[in-house]
Amino acid sequence: MNRYHPYLDWIEQQQSPMAQRLAAWSRINSGTTHREGLARMLSALQEAFSVLGGTMEVLECDPVDHVDEAGNLQALQLGKVLHLVKRPEASLKVFLGGHMDTVFGKDHPFQEPRRQNGRLNGPGAADLKGGLVVMLTALQALERSPYAAGIGWEVVINPDEEIGSPGSARLLAACARRNQVGLLYEPALADGTLAGARKGSGNFTVVLRGRAAHAGRDFHAGRNAIVALAEYTQALFALNHLREGVTINPGQVAGGGAVNMVPDLAILRFNVRVSTVTDQQWLEEKLDRLDHLFLERDGITLQRHGRFARPPKPISPANEKLFAAVAACGHMLGVPLTWQATGGCCDGNNLAAAGLPNVDTLGVRGGNLHSDREYALLDSLAERAKISALLLMRLASGEERL
Ligand SMILES: [Zn+2]
Repeated sequence: MNRYHPYLDWIEQQQSPMAQRLAAWSRINSGTTHREGLARMLSALQEAFSVLGGTMEVLECDPVDHVDEAGNLQALQLGKVLHLVKRPEASLKVFLGGHMDTVFGKDHPFQEPRRQNGRLNGPGAADLKGGLVVMLTALQALERSPYAAGIGWEVVINPDEEIGSPGSARLLAACARRNQVGLLYEPALADGTLAGARKGSGNFTVVLRGRAAHAGRDFHAGRNAIVALAEYTQALFALNHLREGVTINPGQVAGGGAVNMVPDLAILRFNVRVSTVTDQQWLEEKLDRLDHLFLERDGITLQRHGRFARPPKPISPANEKLFAAVAACGHMLGVPLTWQATGGCCDGNNLAAAGLPNVDTLGVRGGNLHSDREYALLDSLAERAKISALLLMRLASGEERL
């Protein structure tokens, strides 16, 4: 343990620059659909991560479909991915991942970070910009140490995690195949607990079309898409009570127009969560059946878009071993670490499904994610960077074997 101290002590001295860097990154609006903001965030990351050496590349996301307000499929323009590799020839290779996007759109009122009582309240402060600061600092400590030569690493920072990483999924799957260990920098809970098993998730959009007609003169000739959608939504929501571990959340509706017109378009966007692959198959079958019921209706058409973007993440034996290795580092640093199952999901789900054992909440301690009360606990920046750095150095020196 003592031999790692100089590099861990160096992290301790970085507390204030780390906090400053986090505030600066939080101030850059990088909502998933805000491409200029994502480009600004990308340059800030390029500059900061360039100190690590290695081969840096900016990669395009794969094209992704999106259902627009008129119910039509459009190509969604995503931001770019930062990709960095060092010592790819090493026999032990570690993947480190995080995302630069946030859930806060360009015009969201939550823009300016505020520092108060050891917290940074700001967009993306915990999810996941704090984690990016932690990842960078841990890698800097590793690279300052003589152990670095014993390990190769690959970093991916994607711009589309908050919508399920549709444009970076292929790259992440490739990373899962060429690395042996995955470290992701999603936030831990405020008390430091890490996420264990995670639910799977899917996002869907249903477009129901009816027939427009004059609400007075031709009322009976019309087919009301809003009413059909209301019935569809009720039937969908009723599936919530049928199977433990499955939840369905209708999240957004749109449609209709002038009130003297029978509406011919209504759109529902919904999110589903499942605990197991069998749950997913069960739900897929229910959704197909529901679609058919509505397609049989006179004058109504239905299209369902979307998919299960994130498979459930059960804890495999390889994953348990990795958790134990992380917990051992925490123990040596006087930071007890435990983990618990969560309904949330992240890129760790997809990496696990592609065969890469990973711990996905190595970022800052924080809370109130996805709300304007989001915060990161600033003392966790150095604390969590030390845990990652120690793990990397122990893996690199061969003291920890997985
Ligand atoms: Zn996140």
